[in-house]
Amino acid sequence: MTNEIIVNETVTENVAAEAIAENVTTREETTTMTTVAKATTTKVGKCTACAKFVSLRKMTTREKANYKRTGLCPKCYAKKQAERLATIAANKAARAEKKANAQAMRANSPFNQVLALVQNSSLNDAQLALLQDRDFVLKATNIVYPLLKKYDVNKTFEEQTYVCKKARYARTPININGDDYLVTNNIYAKNLDKVKAMFQGIGALATDETTTDEAVAIS
Ligand SMILES: [Zn+2]
Repeated sequence: MTNEIIVNETVTENVAAEAIAENVTTREETTTMTTVAKATTTKVGKCTACAKFVSLRKMTTREKANYKRTGLCPKCYAKKQAERLATIAANKAARAEKKANAQAMRANSPFNQVLALVQNSSLNDAQLALLQDRDFVLKATNIVYPLLKKYDVNKTFEEQTYVCKKARYARTPININGDDYLVTNNIYAKNLDKVKAMFQGIGALATDETTTDEAVAIS
């Protein structure tokens, strides 16, 4: 360790001597640009980070290129590079966390909560008819599209769901009592309580184990 420091100091002194010999200005106020520019012609430069003199002759081609581009000695360049990689890794981790949070949010979205409600209820024909009734759903929940729409295999998804060029139903149909239905995607947090109240109102809210078991048995 001690030896290393002595060697480094010796190198610095030697390089400094060379710098003076080659008429490179050593004044502190010399701008980085000037130092780097001179270094490219004089073979001696000064690191912009640690302020040590560096000999370009002792550098590899790559180190020289890095010095010319950044003004950093190989040691400082390596340090900066490590910091840069650490920042990239930290940013990547932050992005992954943000994505996971967004996924968790989506999993708990108003739409998914209503989807779970539909899937966990054992809906009979009368209840299914009400959930497909535009006026009934609008009055009960303020949602302007019928909650469920029977999926028609003879029509395209766009034909069945687009209003003003926007799909008003989720793409994946769900099967209820042997028929495929689309669930409207036009559900917001403000509608949730009313949707639950509507399910309760038509006797479709799965409140005990018996109902849940029946729902599973049917699907
Ligand atoms: Zn340096």
